[in-house]
Amino acid sequence: FLSLSLQAKMSRTVQARRLEGIDKNIWVEFVKLAATYSKVNLGQGFPDFPPPDFLTEALTRAFGGGNHMLHQYTRAFGHPPLVKVLAQFYEKLLGRDIDPMTNVMVTVGAYQALFYCFQALVDEGDEVIIIEPFFDCYEPMVKMAGGTPVFVPLRPNPPKDGKLMSSADWQLDPAELASKFSERTKAIVLNSPNNPLGKVFSRGELGLLAELCVKHDVLCISDEVYEWLVYDGKQHIRIASFQGMWDRTVVIGSAGKTFSATGWKVGWVVGPDRLLQHLRTVHQNSVYHCATIAQEAVAECFQRELMLYGKPESYFVQLPKELQQKRDWLVQSLDGVGMKPIIPEGTYFLVADISQFKSDVPDVSSSDEPYDYRFAKWMVKNKGLAAIPLSTFYSKAHKNNYTNFIRFCFAKEEATLKAANDILQKWKQEKTS
Ligand code: PMP
Repeated sequence: FLSLSLQAKMSRTVQARRLEGIDKNIWVEFVKLAATYSKVNLGQGFPDFPPPDFLTEALTRAFGGGNHMLHQYTRAFGHPPLVKVLAQFYEKLLGRDIDPMTNVMVTVGAYQALFYCFQALVDEGDEVIIIEPFFDCYEPMVKMAGGTPVFVPLRPNPPKDGKLMSSADWQLDPAELASKFSERTKAIVLNSPNNPLGKVFSRGELGLLAELCVKHDVLCISDEVYEWLVYDGKQHIRIASFQGMWDRTVVIGSAGKTFSATGWKVGWVVGPDRLLQHLRTVHQNSVYHCATIAQEAVAECFQRELMLYGKPESYFVQLPKELQQKRDWLVQSLDGVGMKPIIPEGTYFLVADISQFKSDVPDVSSSDEPYDYRFAKWMVKNKGLAAIPLSTFYSKAHKNNYTNFIRFCFAKEEATLKAANDILQKWKQEKTS
């Protein structure tokens, strides 16, 4: 009798409605596949080279430097030395006064900063425009806040001269973009440089986005975690510096991407108090404090970068130089085997065309998985090389239009990229023999 009543209690739905339809996560599946099968992992986005010495030295100093208070809570909205130096840095970048206490807040990685933006600014029924392809968490985060994502794709325009495509060849159709804005639109998510394509939005493209935001009174959630990873002398342009945009933009950054230490999970937001005050409300009612020691060390690193700003010794100058070389190696490897790379202008990701490899992968007609999923799974299991299917970065409605690509991460040691090249070369030989 007792067990029956216990069973009755267990039959109640436990999952909150806001989790409906967002329970699957590509990273859980592909990180496991990579851990099980890969010899060379170019899947998830993290460097396999060490972070700079000045970062680990700063942490050691924070840890053992005699200030035991660094082991205790710090200011909830950001450790004072970190928000102060971030304010100084962004004053330089945005050309305006930034108050460390009201215009900057520290978060547990950029991921949490994004979550705060949607929770604090998006209501039930609000629409949020997302540019495809997009860092996949934007969609479930909008939905968890009760909002409706509205997608607009970057459309590829292959160059006519037979040259390799660049991420700059993926562009928004201005009329299509404008058609997505309405009185229901609360915000647009901009990610430049863009994960997964590596697109760095041009001044013209940002100008159009800014114009639409101002015209329709729309907020801009600007995910700029790859702000320092821009190649070929291109410049990362900041939408918050456009006329009328500061008051409606939240800029998001990440120490993980900036200092090649993704495990640190220190992120931040910069923006006007009228927006940040609501992010602070979410923060004080959820996480409340971020790790003090990590913030102290990141603050020291930003002090260093502030001093060396624009100089050859600056990490923000050195890192993109090193990554550009790695990008070029991977471009060469992929092009050499017919896996046409789309040359990224920024980030440490590269998307490649796998349409010439269809005959390698068994066609399972019973499977409703898109080709790029089947390909990426087959490749890691049979070749030991891990990458991520591009359709992951699209909404359900548009996924099936983009199944001929996979994404690689090239923030890797030279030896790792060489091992990837060896796998690809061997594969090509097997195909031709
Ligand atoms: N935004 C983008 C575009 C990203 O690619 C990532 C990490 N892959 C994040 C945010 C999250 O950054 P963090 O590790 O600082 O949480």
